[in-house]
Amino acid sequence: MSSLGKGLASASLGALLQSRGYKVRLRKLDPYLNVDPGTMSPYQHGEVYVTDDGAETDLDLGHYERFTGVSAHQSDNITTGRIYSNIIEKERRGDYLGATVQVIPHVTDELKEFVVSDAGDVDFVLCEVGGTVGDIEGLPFFEALRQLGQELGREQVLFIHVTLLPYIAAAGEVKTKPTQHSVKELRSIGIQPDILLCRADRPISESDQNKIARFCNVKQSAVIQALDARSIYDVPLAYHNEGLDREVLRHFRVEPMPEPDLSRWEAVSQTLHNPDGEVNIAVIGKYTVLPDAYKSITEALVHGGIANQIKVKIRWMESEEFSNEEDASQALKGVDGILVPGGFGERGSEGKIRAAKYARENNVPYFGICFGMQMAVVEAARNLAGIKDASSTEFGPTKEPVVGLMTEWVKGNEKQTRDEDTDLGGTMRLGAYPAVLSEGSLVAEMYGTNNIRERHRHRYEVNIDYKDRIEAVGLKFSGMSPDGILPEIVEIPDHPWFVGVQYHPELKSRPFEPHPLFAGFVAAALKQSRMV
Ligand code: GLN
Repeated sequence: MSSLGKGLASASLGALLQSRGYKVRLRKLDPYLNVDPGTMSPYQHGEVYVTDDGAETDLDLGHYERFTGVSAHQSDNITTGRIYSNIIEKERRGDYLGATVQVIPHVTDELKEFVVSDAGDVDFVLCEVGGTVGDIEGLPFFEALRQLGQELGREQVLFIHVTLLPYIAAAGEVKTKPTQHSVKELRSIGIQPDILLCRADRPISESDQNKIARFCNVKQSAVIQALDARSIYDVPLAYHNEGLDREVLRHFRVEPMPEPDLSRWEAVSQTLHNPDGEVNIAVIGKYTVLPDAYKSITEALVHGGIANQIKVKIRWMESEEFSNEEDASQALKGVDGILVPGGFGERGSEGKIRAAKYARENNVPYFGICFGMQMAVVEAARNLAGIKDASSTEFGPTKEPVVGLMTEWVKGNEKQTRDEDTDLGGTMRLGAYPAVLSEGSLVAEMYGTNNIRERHRHRYEVNIDYKDRIEAVGLKFSGMSPDGILPEIVEIPDHPWFVGVQYHPELKSRPFEPHPLFAGFVAAALKQSRMV
């Protein structure tokens, strides 16, 4: 079922195989009907993770990247919606030459092809299936994987089932029945799991492990205890200690097994659990009741903490609660840094503008990401440059479109055009684009270079027509698209740390390579915390 940590399990196994010198590719199959998660509400589905090649994908791909450092691609996430849309397109073209198009074999064939396609020179493809065993939507996916197991041969395919062992407090017992039943369900559709990854909040007794092995028809060494961990970055080590990677390699008859080098995971774990101080960062958003909506931001802040050997405490705040300046300063008093993440729509935007104003006026480190940058520019336009009606066309027609709909831009060698009537799905400025940083700027110093590439996901853009008036009052445009048309970064030179970026740096941060802006922001917050 969802939230069990299948994504982390995949990512962790990928990392463990890497630690033994193998090349891995991680993929996600999502059984829902949306073509991609791009149009889904963060409340429904958590964050949308954007890849370099501009795909809007499931947030599990973020875990894959953070744990393995391998950049994900469009071809690493597929949904039922995309499969059907491909098939229907082919059917309309007449590609099926008069055949009746059916779930088996047409949908299952597309799925199998997805799993093995474009795998290059990797040693292992790890493919995670979303949803729950027994769901109607999932059936074609399981059937496709069953067939693949049969076609490639069981020496080349391994099935891992992630299952829950609930603890019933009233009885004081861990229950194995749900696991027995979900395995029974899997076997009824022809899949015998080879390894059971048993999620539990307390140790599973030897006798329960025996019972699971016997009733689920797996080897006892293949019943892997997967207990809750203090940090997600402890999971690879924990699964290694339980023998997961050994069991996987044994299945594939790898002999002799290469020794693992887990030193980087040990180092991350060591730093995380022995911080030398802490900082409080306020994150002001509108989906703060669901932290999954800001998964990569949360993780990038953790990485920023690792870079500075400190613990980052996040205070989630709803921007709508900042209904006036008084409320905003009350709530923000005492925080060491303020981060306004990406967002969509007018609701909550005034609260974000107030947060940016508070940060600017009180010399508190401010990090504005995408929408958080746009709102910081609107704030400066209104309160410093005196453009009273400054706004974004995202909120409706305005006399002063300081942030406006982007109708034309260049991707690679191609010109992209959009207008108000374009479909919403998949039509934002998406994926990695280059930017050029100004010599001597704070951001150039942090990146250690003047040329960067970062990932985007937005429809609106700071309007270059206002550049001179905004720069004149102290907010500098320190990063631009190479053609000089699209503002990518703004910063205030005489402020301890005030940076807004049009892209999403959080998507490229890793525990081993904290993103320079997150490392810099957390360092500035640390300085702030030691001043008060
Ligand atoms: N809503 C804004 C836009 O579309 C910002 C998007 C974002 O923050 N990702 O431009």
